[in-house]
Amino acid sequence: MSRPIHTLIDLSALEHNLSVVRQFAPHSRIMAIIKANAYGHGLLHTAKALRQADGFAMLEPDAAITLRQAGYQHPILLLEGFFSMTELALFKQYNLTTVIHHKEQLSMLAASENGELDVFIKINTGMNRLGFAPSEFSQALLSLEANPTVKQISLMTHFANADDLTKASSVTDQLQCFNTTTNGLKYPRTLANSAAIIHHPETHVDWVRPGLLLYGASPSPEKTAQALGLRPAMTILSKLIAIQNLKAGDRIGYGGHFQASRSMRIGIVAGGYADGYPRHAFSGTPILVNGQRTLTLGFASMDMLAIDLSHIENTQLGSTVTLWGEGLPVEEIAHAAGTISYELLCAMAPRVESIIKGS
Ligand SMILES: *Cc1c(COP(=O)(O)O)cnc(C)c1O
Repeated sequence: MSRPIHTLIDLSALEHNLSVVRQFAPHSRIMAIIKANAYGHGLLHTAKALRQADGFAMLEPDAAITLRQAGYQHPILLLEGFFSMTELALFKQYNLTTVIHHKEQLSMLAASENGELDVFIKINTGMNRLGFAPSEFSQALLSLEANPTVKQISLMTHFANADDLTKASSVTDQLQCFNTTTNGLKYPRTLANSAAIIHHPETHVDWVRPGLLLYGASPSPEKTAQALGLRPAMTILSKLIAIQNLKAGDRIGYGGHFQASRSMRIGIVAGGYADGYPRHAFSGTPILVNGQRTLTLGFASMDMLAIDLSHIENTQLGSTVTLWGEGLPVEEIAHAAGTISYELLCAMAPRVESIIKGS
């Protein structure tokens, strides 16, 4: 038995979106970002759909080991690296590639004599989250070069504002800082996330690191996913589980935030904030019923939300409702909830069953 709400994951959309990224960055290798359970899409089937990528990256060592054990031979990069000697030993055992962003990690590497490891040294060029300051970089690099257990060294940074064209100079500044800091070095480089892939081709270099694009959402307020040629990989489908007829003056749900100004027919949909639908989405957020666009009424509660059926034809109990995905971009729901599509995709609750389509 399962609830009427489920997540439909379209593997052919993931494959398609990977080919779109290839067209944007034809001269770069692609490191597919599958952190956070592949942005809520599910690790193993997402990796399978994206197996033509040149590498994978994530933050969770357990997920990386799961991929290795499933037989993937790709480079697998851990974006925060290791935090203990025990983790470092596991990285070597499973041939995982690590980001090195902190002196502590250099000390642990120097103290761990066995095995071999590929590393990406991360430079903080302005994001101020992870990475060596430009002034610390050459010292850190020397330490890695002198370490016989370090096989391949690559260079990395991350942009803070690649999605915002009004802050294009921020990307230029970070790029310039990176180039100055690494001037003359021959190591492979990686800079670009999804937004930089579409807006800043000069940042593509050896490896690109797309996340959001692969899942079929747009990282850019300037371009819709459709305009970028992407297809949504996640669609949240549910059903009408009740229909109510309201009189003028009637209210709906906790707090009665929505009040009917006329008589109206409304639908109750299985799906609330405990499923991952944002409670902050305002009354009037778009939603599809039988493929027709209508609006939510009031706020989602834990398990249900209400929608307007007044102008919608042929709806009954069991009619299909699309919360976002195919036909209704997740960006629209994110906008209505004052958040970004990343958060909605990642926040789908484990209690919502996934159905996998394609490949
Ligand atoms: C998450 C992440 C990415 C991917 O970002 P998108 O905006 O989803 O493309 C790339 N690089 C790093 C270091 C990340 O943490």
